[in-house]
Amino acid sequence: MGAVMIKCPDTGRDIATGIVADRESFNATPVFFARVLCPICQNEHEWFAQQAWVCESDPAAKRRPTQSPSASL
Ligand SMILES: [Zn+2]
Repeated sequence: MGAVMIKCPDTGRDIATGIVADRESFNATPVFFARVLCPICQNEHEWFAQQAWVCESDPAAKRRPTQSPSASL
């Protein structure tokens, strides 16, 4: 089990959606649409399951190398 994470579209930072799932069942979930109140910019972001991933480890403890194809510099 892990936290379902998305990338904040405004700040580009990873935020937790408040949903907890295990990776395999989340990947098997049909595409859905949800909203999350972003703790960073205090906006409500809309996201699709396609954009999200399951962070199995504590997001505060480990920092994953970001593999974003559209890096904004
Ligand atoms: Zn945000």
